[in-house]
Parts: sequence; C-alpha cells; structure tokens
Amino acid sequence: MTVDRSKMTEGVRTFLNGLGQRFEGDDQDKTPQRVADAWADDLVAGYAVDPELELSWTPAPADCGPVLVRRIDFASVCVHHLLPFFGLAYLGYLPDQRLAGLSKLGRVVDAYARRLQTQERMTSQIVCCVDRVLSPRGVVALLEAEHTCMTLRGVRKERSRMVTVASAGCYESDPAARREVLELLTDRHLGNTR
Ligand code: ZN
Repeated sequence: MTVDRSKMTEGVRTFLNGLGQRFEGDDQDKTPQRVADAWADDLVAGYAVDPELELSWTPAPADCGPVLVRRIDFASVCVHHLLPFFGLAYLGYLPDQRLAGLSKLGRVVDAYARRLQTQERMTSQIVCCVDRVLSPRGVVALLEAEHTCMTLRGVRKERSRMVTVASAGCYESDPAARREVLELLTDRHLGNTR
C-alpha cells in the first residue's frame, strides 16, 4: 500500500480550516505537509513493510527451551480516534526447527505497530506472524499500553493501561504452559512499565 501524501496534506489543511485555524506566516503554512510526512514516514510506515520478511531465522539447536523477549517498546495509532497508543510488548515462543534473532521480533512488533491499529488485532497479528514463519511449538504475546484516546479525553483515566494476550500452539492448547510462560515474561514488571 502506498500513501498519497498530497491527499493527506489536503485533508489536514481542510481539518485545520474546520478548526477555524488562521495561518500566520510561512512556518504554519507548512504544517499540513509536515503532518502528512510525519504520518507517511513514521506513524503508518509499517504498511510498506512485510512483517514476515522481517522475521529471518536460523536452525534451532535440539531441545531448545523457550525464548522470551521482554519490554519491546512500541508506539501505534488507534484506528478509532487517530490518537497514539504506546507501551511494551512481551513475546515468548518455544522453538521447533527455527530460531529468530532477537532484533527480528522487535521488527515484527514495529511493522504491525506503525499502522492504524487496535491493540487486540495487533497482538494476534504478531502471534500469527511468528506462528507462520517460525512454526514454533508455541507462541504467546502480551501487550500493555496506554491509550491516549482514554487518558487524554473523556473520563481521563491517566494511569490505566490495557493488557492484551494472544497465543498459538502449545501456549494456546495448554493453559498451564501459557500461565508459566506469561509469568516468566512479565515477572515483577507488569504494572511498572512507565
Ligand atoms: Zn481510540
């Protein structure tokens, strides 16, 4: 998917007109273009990335134990309000034949985060991607995030965080195994993420 920067720029200009904004001087005249560039280059840059191609792997050693990656920072945009949500991702998988580099899992999170998202969908997309590419024995993802559409508007629950979990393979079919890996992943860190 390619984004149309001129349409985005035009839309921001219309939006600002709707706000009753009066532009004064060149600097603010560039705001619509700057906003369009910020979105295209960063906030929704994940549309240009295939997360499955990011996830390169090497053969796993025999009897490899679970691989856990804690506290992967991410920032995304809520599809309902176009406001940021941001937080931490915790990922764990039990390899079968394939082992991913740690930085690769972070890239998968980033590729899905830099889109218009819901946290629930992003969590299951990450799990599906790891499941498809690595064919592990099990995979689980937990995301904890602050949604500015909750903390900046409405009832302003400043300290609330949303937690979502998705799993596949043995971590989906075996609740005890899932509980154990989630404890290892989040040990003492949950509730202390910002
Ligand atoms: Zn929202």
